[in-house]
Amino acid sequence: MKIIVLPGDGIGPETVAVATASLEAVDARFRLGLDLQPDVAGHDSLRQYGTTVRPELLDRVKAADGLILGPMSTYDFKDESRGEINPSKYFRKNLDLFANIRPARTYEGSGSRYGKLDLVVVRENTEGFYADRNIESGGSEMLITPDVVVSLRRITRPCCERIARAAFDLAMTRQRHVTVVHKANVLRLGDGMFIDSCQLVARDYPDVRVDEVIVDAMMAHVVRAPERYDVIVTTNMFGDILSDLTAELSGSLGMAASINSGTKYAMAQAAHGSAPDIAGQNIANPFSQVCSAGMLLTWYGQREGRENFIQAGHALDEAVAQAIAARESTRDMGGSLGTRQTGEALVARLRAY
Ligand code: NAD
Repeated sequence: MKIIVLPGDGIGPETVAVATASLEAVDARFRLGLDLQPDVAGHDSLRQYGTTVRPELLDRVKAADGLILGPMSTYDFKDESRGEINPSKYFRKNLDLFANIRPARTYEGSGSRYGKLDLVVVRENTEGFYADRNIESGGSEMLITPDVVVSLRRITRPCCERIARAAFDLAMTRQRHVTVVHKANVLRLGDGMFIDSCQLVARDYPDVRVDEVIVDAMMAHVVRAPERYDVIVTTNMFGDILSDLTAELSGSLGMAASINSGTKYAMAQAAHGSAPDIAGQNIANPFSQVCSAGMLLTWYGQREGRENFIQAGHALDEAVAQAIAARESTRDMGGSLGTRQTGEALVARLRAY
């Protein structure tokens, strides 16, 4: 399995280094035959090549079997004509990575204040309010007068149906429960179409229980009783916001693993950003990136029918859970180790399996 590895900005180089060391450890243990190929995107690429992401990098990624993308300082990249392209958007759009899968669970030993949870947010990733990816060319945010902005939100039936199917497929491997999160009381047409599409797809999954919750109420429900939820499917922006909340409920945003997948390609990228406030301090939690890399192995194993990749993905999750229970983690998860030391302990644990 050839994987392109792009460390990203801010804390990215620190957390991605732990993810690649962990992959090397499971590679040996499960005989995966991984070929990890480093490259650059984001600020490093802007400095070296005058653009945050080179077109030939997309070709390299397309020729590989997977991509690991570190967090990107996307807010810094404002002017595409100066090479400041948002790499996360660039890959999501050009590889049609429509399903952003963001699991969140609590861990023994980390002492979550809000009770146990084990759920997955399935977020539509290619349209919605995201002006950077919901239109072919031009912008969908317009400055009408110096004081008036109009932002367009795109919702299409095919995109609703394919994300719904991804959610129901996932639910069949879990507790067989899908919660559709929406704002159809206000966004009657767009979110109405989203709900209709989910209900249509649900007919193919008679064993899956389905309920619907309005997004603002969902913020309260998921804090009050997170154990009620299994798979949550929602549109792009709601999923982006809700999944940061569920990650924090699981203990820390530093646990926010995520994979962006389509029919042909997949990209492992933690859900959080580049965390400039803690970059370079050896305190960032690397587990989000490690578990994202594990999800990439699982995705590949399922697609290729390779059981050892699925086992390796599972081993990474298990090792992270055991590390947290043993307090071999960064401070946000109750440990006292630095990023590097957390990685060293995790690799030792993986090697000892
Ligand atoms: P952020 O997610 O980077 O950070 C939010 C808070 O969570 C900060 O206090 C940070 O220290 C903490 N945090 C994040 N990851 C952590 C980790 N692994 N361990 C411990 N603590 C962690 O959000 P932000 O500060 O608003 O954004 C910073 C930059 O990241 C911006 O340029 C933003 O546009 C970008 N961003 C990128 C992505 C992405 O690449 N997918 C996602 C979100 C934000």
